[in-house]
Amino acid sequence: MQPLSNARIHFNQQGAPVASDFEDIYFSDEGGLGETDYVFLQQNGLPERWLQQSKTYFHVLETGFGTGANFLVCWQRFQQFRAQNPSAPCQRLYFSSVEKFPISATDLQKALACHHELAEFSQALLKAYPPAVAGCHRLVFAEGQVILDLWLGDANDLLPQFPTDHQVDAIFLDGFAPSKNPEMWQVSLFEQLFRLAAPECTLATFTCAGIVKRGLQQAGFQIKKVKGYGRKREMLTATVPTERQLEKTHSISQRAAAISHITIIGGGLAALCSADALLKRGIKVQLLCADADVAQRASHNRQGALYPNLTVQPTVASLLHCHAFHYAKQFYQHYHALGLDFPLQFCGMLHLATTTHLATRQQKMAAKASWPNDLVNFVDAAKASTLAGIALQHSGIFLPTAGWLGPQAFCQAMLAHLQQQQGFEVRFNCDVTALHSLATGWQIETADHTYNAQHLLVATGADIGQLAPLAALPVNRVRGQVSHVQAPEISQLRTVICHKGYLTPAWQGEHSVGATFDRDGQIAQTTTEDDQQNIAELQQQLGQPAWSSAITAISAKAAFRATVPDRLPIVGQMAALKNLWVMTGLGARGLLYAPLLAELLACQLAAEPLPQGSHAIAQLAANRFNKG
Ligand code: SAM
Repeated sequence: MQPLSNARIHFNQQGAPVASDFEDIYFSDEGGLGETDYVFLQQNGLPERWLQQSKTYFHVLETGFGTGANFLVCWQRFQQFRAQNPSAPCQRLYFSSVEKFPISATDLQKALACHHELAEFSQALLKAYPPAVAGCHRLVFAEGQVILDLWLGDANDLLPQFPTDHQVDAIFLDGFAPSKNPEMWQVSLFEQLFRLAAPECTLATFTCAGIVKRGLQQAGFQIKKVKGYGRKREMLTATVPTERQLEKTHSISQRAAAISHITIIGGGLAALCSADALLKRGIKVQLLCADADVAQRASHNRQGALYPNLTVQPTVASLLHCHAFHYAKQFYQHYHALGLDFPLQFCGMLHLATTTHLATRQQKMAAKASWPNDLVNFVDAAKASTLAGIALQHSGIFLPTAGWLGPQAFCQAMLAHLQQQQGFEVRFNCDVTALHSLATGWQIETADHTYNAQHLLVATGADIGQLAPLAALPVNRVRGQVSHVQAPEISQLRTVICHKGYLTPAWQGEHSVGATFDRDGQIAQTTTEDDQQNIAELQQQLGQPAWSSAITAISAKAAFRATVPDRLPIVGQMAALKNLWVMTGLGARGLLYAPLLAELLACQLAAEPLPQGSHAIAQLAANRFNKG
């Protein structure tokens, strides 16, 4: 997979942004937003169609995100529509936009500055704007009322990754003029647009070029020439012909309908983030937790680092890490700002090259420029020391946007938040002993009670195999112990430090040092040997710095983590078992994965557009082990 490059842009005399490599403008010189409104909104029948919509959401697909002006106008109009029609069934706007040459955040700020009427929306976009990493970045705005899926990469490579269930209601066919950018306007592009079009889908494009007219028609659309914007003579609109609508309607009715209730077994990050994502979509949740409180097992740590694990070159797993990281960051920041009480610091993370193997990997990564600079920089030992605020002997990579938060405190705060939501119910001390499949769903047995659920999600981490229908999932139990230490000489440590293990900045006077990785460990109790091992590893990896001799272990936590041989989590429906869903295998990365995977699962259950492509979803699916 090739790394992406940012667009090279300059500003013309009118102040409009121009793509230097295409000599084409992003929006028209004569009042850019008027063109957006006329070409893309009005010619797709917006906002009127939102009012007629009986579904809970409306899905727009755009080719060429550019400056995001089309998206921002659409968001602004959707917000007005919601304010004027609060009881309309259409509650959410999904906007999927594909962009091959993302504009850098600095250029984006400059390009959007002229749209004063969009200032509030532009600010929110700039705050959430992802680094130039390929694939789908889900950005959530306005309390989930507007969801932007920003797909970075070539439209012709990415659209085939959109699951057919992504069906779209309107298409903004933008892009540089076909004469200036013929690579984009390929037959396959039009075919993909037709594949993704819902029966009532409409399409609008600024161009009337022959290649576009023919391409749309050959793919199956019925086209119409209409008056262009301003001085432009013509533009095109398109719809799905009536005779093709029937086959599309048929394929939709084959798909699962959204559900109204679900029971979740679990009480950690996976279960709580899933409950949150489902409730947001109006699905009622009953949570059955084995313990007397949430986050008593692998999600119980005081502090946990949040960062993506970057490989020398992008892979499916490392791209997923980046998408999950960017999503998780927005998610935790949102709840922190809302007043949920948990510690959170985006202080950066230094991954030190403490072995020759690590140093070689990091050098290769730098040489290949695989990842953007706003995600990762390469630093020598002196720079690393300045960043960390303590003397360090190794060079490394620095992820300035990474940090740490308190997983247990977050789970407890999230529970309190969920308890204030309608449609949420929790039962504690519910240790589920058996599951029985019924014609109508599932029967759930605990020592003293039997529950019935039409849909069931099991998110019990490393314990998942204890329930017979899930025993065949290849989930291993790996014991891990984290030590809480006092280290008076490094109280000023400012960043998370990773080596083979990790060391966090102090919180309430103690640092977390971790973690052991013990495939054979059977007891959950903490041991002094493991504390000694964590401290010895830290001392050895960092080259026995003087401060490390004054470290004292105060307490510790140990738990079993769920790991999967292919090192990816498991999320989705159990193929052979009706109405049974799972999320497990998050390993030591629950903080990173849980928010995005919960969003994925909730969208699968609610039949809404999914936040990842079909390739990534297949790599995470519960049925990936059933092959051949
Ligand atoms: N909709 C944009 C806005 O609101 O600012 C303006 C789009 S601009 C006219 C065209 C965009 O298409 C550029 O951002 C360009 O980088 C993008 N683009 C060009 N070729 C592409 C391709 N093959 N795949 C995806 N995006 C492409």
